[in-house]
Amino acid sequence: MIVMAKKYLGQHFLIDKNIAKDIVDSLKATNLDRILEIGPGMGVLTNYLLENKNFETYVIEIDHESVEYLHKNIPQLENRIIEGDFLKMDLATEVSAKPFAVIGNLPYNISSQIFFKVLENKELIPEVVCMLQKEVAQRISSGPGSRVYGILSVFLQAWYNIEYLFSVPEYVFDPPPKVQSAVIRLTANGRTELGCDEKLFFKVVKLAFNQRRKMLRNSIKSFSPRIEELDAVLLTRRPEQLSVEEFIDLTNNIERLLTSAELPIA
Ligand code: SAM
Repeated sequence: MIVMAKKYLGQHFLIDKNIAKDIVDSLKATNLDRILEIGPGMGVLTNYLLENKNFETYVIEIDHESVEYLHKNIPQLENRIIEGDFLKMDLATEVSAKPFAVIGNLPYNISSQIFFKVLENKELIPEVVCMLQKEVAQRISSGPGSRVYGILSVFLQAWYNIEYLFSVPEYVFDPPPKVQSAVIRLTANGRTELGCDEKLFFKVVKLAFNQRRKMLRNSIKSFSPRIEELDAVLLTRRPEQLSVEEFIDLTNNIERLLTSAELPIA
């Protein structure tokens, strides 16, 4: 534990094998035989995976000392240890062109960026099981009407079913983090098309949540001076009240508004 992570001192390493087992056992990996672990560190999850599951396991680790440790202590990984930054990797060419599940006790400071990377590669990644900061886990897994439902919740829930699996106490880490932790599972929901322009959807969701307490009438008015032509009841709602489907409808309505001169918009 002490030899590593000089550079990544902000990281918290799991020292409880029962939690490692619970995390790995949460993988369903239906129809998948390949797993990618992000940030294996000293391999607490990796060892349990290799000893108890029959997956072809790849790991991506940014810390060189950890990579050396893994080569030395987990030789079964052979050439499936990838040294580098998960965020910068071209996953299809540098990891696997075949779909795989992702697992990891994530580096908490970049967990949101990791989810955006997962979204970019959603066709390759049908499942994610990961440990992360509890607040982020709650945010991602909560639905409309919740105080913590936000941009990442909508983007991820458009493509994945998200389950909050269990909370993890701080004393199972070395060093113990100041924040609480939790484990979640994302499973592809089978959607292949969003049903609206994806780029516009991203813009609409972001713009709406930038002013999450405001009615849509105010938060999205910069899209068009004709925004008042949208449904009046819809315009009184706040972003945190809208489901993914409603955001898709809203995006389609805005797109029609932007591209057509016809009135009124339903
Ligand atoms: N899996 C180990 C455990 O549970 O004890 C280590 C978890 S530690 C919270 C996060 C790990 O991710 C560290 O080993 C760190 O070096 C690695 N890491 C941080 N940023 C990374 C990145 N961008 N790409 C790949 N690995 C990263």
